[in-house]
Amino acid sequence: MAHCAIVGINWGDEGKGRMVDLLTENYDLVVRYQGGGNAGHTVINEYGKFALHLLPSGIFRRGVVNVLGNGVALDPENLWEEMEQVRSQGVEITPENLKISDRASILLPWHRDLDALEEQRLADKKYGSTRQGIAPFYSDKYQKKTVMVGELFYPEVLKAHLTDLMEWKNLTLTKVYGAQPYTMEMLEKWLDSYCEKIKPFVCDASAFLRDAQAAGKNILFEAQLGSLRDLDYGIYPYTTSSNTTAAYAPIGSGLPSAKIEDVVGVVKAYSTCVGEGPFVCEMFGDEADALRAAGFEYGAKTGRPRRVGAIDLVATRYGVEVQAATEIALTKLDVLSYMEKIPVCVRYSLNGGETDRFPFPAAMNAAKPVIEYVPGWQCDISGVRAWDELPKAAQNYVLLIEKAIGCPITYVSVGPERDSIIIRK
Ligand code: GDP
Repeated sequence: MAHCAIVGINWGDEGKGRMVDLLTENYDLVVRYQGGGNAGHTVINEYGKFALHLLPSGIFRRGVVNVLGNGVALDPENLWEEMEQVRSQGVEITPENLKISDRASILLPWHRDLDALEEQRLADKKYGSTRQGIAPFYSDKYQKKTVMVGELFYPEVLKAHLTDLMEWKNLTLTKVYGAQPYTMEMLEKWLDSYCEKIKPFVCDASAFLRDAQAAGKNILFEAQLGSLRDLDYGIYPYTTSSNTTAAYAPIGSGLPSAKIEDVVGVVKAYSTCVGEGPFVCEMFGDEADALRAAGFEYGAKTGRPRRVGAIDLVATRYGVEVQAATEIALTKLDVLSYMEKIPVCVRYSLNGGETDRFPFPAAMNAAKPVIEYVPGWQCDISGVRAWDELPKAAQNYVLLIEKAIGCPITYVSVGPERDSIIIRK
């Protein structure tokens, strides 16, 4: 068994959570290596239905150790509330099965305020932030203006550090945005209410991962969002503020020596996108409403209706390249069962010609989708568990995608439940 990363190929919300939940069976550790509480992985299993934001999706498997690596935006308040929520549904979370890297940086209370204040200032030019403080957090992390989780064990250092940061941040809050300043009392309350509670889970996660690797344990790296939201390779500036690519997993997890042999890219059978920015294959009107309703496409974190569209072969091929995916899980094929004919975005029309290359972000507003239709299957496939039992039209749809993206589709998901899967290998 090799180390494996499960990553999104498109705009996020592809169903990574359900794939991690399924594949953790074969792994000893699940590691989150980037992002924060700004997106949600939906998992349905024997404990119920969960929208996980920060917790790794291996938290439901007995014997699996879950790690929040140094690359995540560690929000103690969100994390603690999520832990309480998941525990209330009967899932055990202990320092044995959840480990937080002492090198993860902390998302401070003002990061969320700054996110909301900046979106307000931008008004109709906003980027569609989830207002969880992720962009201000990562900006501050790279400016070296936040604290590491491990500082919780050095109260004197922490207090002096927070005092300096607060004085600096209050200038922005009050003078730029006209907002209320923070006080040390407010920060002490936050430290007591949340940071103290997560402290028992904090450890030298890098050392733990190195030992696990040396002992031959199998590690699964779990990404958030997808290729097209990657800070460097995505549709900038409509990206997230971290790297969603598998290549970042060794750095963000705390195991720079990790060799990831298997990259499972998750692709949805159609396209969805949350927030602003170019979305070439977007559908509108009744066609969009029908697809949104069939796929129940509303944000796990925000409840916002997602933008929907045909599968975009141009963007998906690019996403596969960016992730260096070795195999693909195609999810939500069952959602398309109502369609008589299925739209497929095969190329973009751009600058008077047609292209199958993913354009530079600034060129994307001018791109239009070239849509071709393939026959639908118009029957319920949610109970199918074997490739041969899938209707021919559904098989053809999968094979068409596989050929276009140049990567084997080894899993076809036909429902949200753990066992609603067709394995093709
Ligand atoms: P993630 O962030 O990539 O994990 O994706 P989300 O959790 O935001 O979105 C996936 C949604 O689709 C969740 O509600 C899943 O329960 C659901 N889902 C995943 N796979 C399937 C599938 O094959 N069919 C159907 N109908 N729903 C699915």
